[in-house]
Amino acid sequence: MLNKIISENSIQKAKKIIEQSDKIVIVTHTSPDGDAIGSSLALYHFLTELGKEVNVLVPNNFPGFLKWMKGAKDIVVAEWKENVAKELIQAADLIFCLDFNVLKRIEPLSAWVEKAGAQKILIDHHPSPEDFCDVIISHSEIASTSELIFRFICRMGMFDFMNKSCAECIYAGMMTDTGAFTYNSNDKHIYFIISELLAKGIDKDAIYDKVYNHYSESRLRLQGYVLYEKMKIYETYHTALITLSREENERFQWNRGDTEGFVNMPLGIEGIVFSAFIREEADMVKISLRSKGNFPANGFVAEVFKGGGHLNAAGGEFYGKLEEAIALFEEALPKFREQLTPSTVH
Ligand code: 5GP
Ligand code: MN
Repeated sequence: MLNKIISENSIQKAKKIIEQSDKIVIVTHTSPDGDAIGSSLALYHFLTELGKEVNVLVPNNFPGFLKWMKGAKDIVVAEWKENVAKELIQAADLIFCLDFNVLKRIEPLSAWVEKAGAQKILIDHHPSPEDFCDVIISHSEIASTSELIFRFICRMGMFDFMNKSCAECIYAGMMTDTGAFTYNSNDKHIYFIISELLAKGIDKDAIYDKVYNHYSESRLRLQGYVLYEKMKIYETYHTALITLSREENERFQWNRGDTEGFVNMPLGIEGIVFSAFIREEADMVKISLRSKGNFPANGFVAEVFKGGGHLNAAGGEFYGKLEEAIALFEEALPKFREQLTPSTVH
């Protein structure tokens, strides 16, 4: 049996709002990852099964290795179809906000979502959500938003409306937010849920293959390059840093998603507890952080780059030069020295 996480009050309120709504929009965060796309498309399949008119909106494009999911080709990418996105938000009776906790994470859609007359339901697992929705289902103890979608559907008593496509998307999101169940995945309920998804007919091995074994040649070459030439180790701080400039991205014909997972690689080195990946993009510098054990990647990025995220996976944006971001990162390490030790890893 699945334990009850979501409050009965939230379930009843959300269920009633869904019943009253016909036009539903699902929005997820910028640079969508597997959990963002997985949870959004899972909810899309469920609500479509209920007979609703549903659209999924993302602020910008998402990686090719997520495009196999059924429904992915119908997702509205706001950076390409700004007016369509705006009109859908304005016409919606209900907006679901998935896998993000603060409106800033859906720029440039945030102002429209905030102003929209629709009712809003947040389903997310990032700590400290902003209060911008009518129903807030926020559980940072749960490994993925996709798992929360499974729980949400079950708790509404609508497991029968979860079709195979919905189950596949839930599995994809649960898998990608836990590194294929290698971290943040000791909760036994995860495996109960997987067994239920298998009963819906999903092929979990095929989903793994579609996500992790369909990279481009340029990604693999870039991976070799960053590990050999660009990974810096700060032994005193048990920390690793990989940086990439725009020029380097262009040289390796970088596509969105090509660098996904790079930040995790240095954590495979004995003794490394903190890993950073700092990448120059067209209009900003993207910071991506991962840690092991108790080292607070979210605390570090909040203090140094005003970013956020989870204890072991966090990120932020820096508006300035790549070199300035690297300097800020390096200057901050001594302040965290006491926490940057392998002993924080259990
Ligand atoms: P990633 O490194 O995969 O881009 O992000 C890891 C986690 O960090 C995300 O799940 C999200 O919680 C958080 N995160 C990433 N970028 C940002 C950002 O710009 N601002 C905030 N507040 N959190 C971020
Ligand atoms: Mn997530």
